[in-house]
Amino acid sequence: MRPPQYLFDTQALEALLARLERHTTPLFLDYDGTLAPIVDDPEQARMAPAMRTALERLAARHTVAVVSGRDLAALQQFVGLDNVYYAGSHGFEITGPGGVHEANAEAEACIEALGAAAQDLEAELADIPGAALERKRYAVAAHYRNTPEAAVPRVTAAVEAVTSRYPELRYGAGKMVYELQPDVDWDKGRAVLWLLDALALSRGDALPLYIGDDWTDEHAFRALEGRGIGIFVGEPGRATEADYRVADIDEVRQLFELILEGAH
Ligand SMILES: [Mg+2]
Repeated sequence: MRPPQYLFDTQALEALLARLERHTTPLFLDYDGTLAPIVDDPEQARMAPAMRTALERLAARHTVAVVSGRDLAALQQFVGLDNVYYAGSHGFEITGPGGVHEANAEAEACIEALGAAAQDLEAELADIPGAALERKRYAVAAHYRNTPEAAVPRVTAAVEAVTSRYPELRYGAGKMVYELQPDVDWDKGRAVLWLLDALALSRGDALPLYIGDDWTDEHAFRALEGRGIGIFVGEPGRATEADYRVADIDEVRQLFELILEGAH
């Protein structure tokens, strides 16, 4: 794995924009930390108006899909655009224009266990300061961004203990959050490949782009290796399988605007 190239180095940017112009370019975009800023209260993670405008214009010309760990319904509400595809719950549920709809049956079968695990976890987290439980359709999240550092190992221990009681569940780590999920072989990368197939974009002249900032996005970077382009959002120095790096969501929007300028 080599470090990703910083995209706003002029040569890299020109080369990428030229490649995109020669291809059909579906765009797959993470939401939190990619389109919207990470904030203390996840309910307040709103896209800036300039970002929404850019996204709407992009979606008028390209296939655009937002791929997120958030529930599908919440994601649709946050983004609020009709001409965009949505993959919620890391791709367990996918919907979009033209009647595209898919729910992962194996994940569906784990919903009861998730409900029981949520109750267990709520009890375990009750006396840990700042720890917050979030029940989602296909996941239970334990947020600890407001938890004092010394108490974080207690959150980890609680998540491990509860997960071990439910063989059909596993847990993963995100930014200041653990998430219990169905232990199903499915991730953002599989969701992206599913969408490419469903939208007949698996052909040779399509060059899909995936932009994301978190560990869960690495599945998508990997899935597109050799057939698409991955762009990591964040600081230099982190290991990623993306081809390029942009510094922050502002540079994501700048990239959108450059793609739009090049579109005819
Ligand atoms: Mg993210």
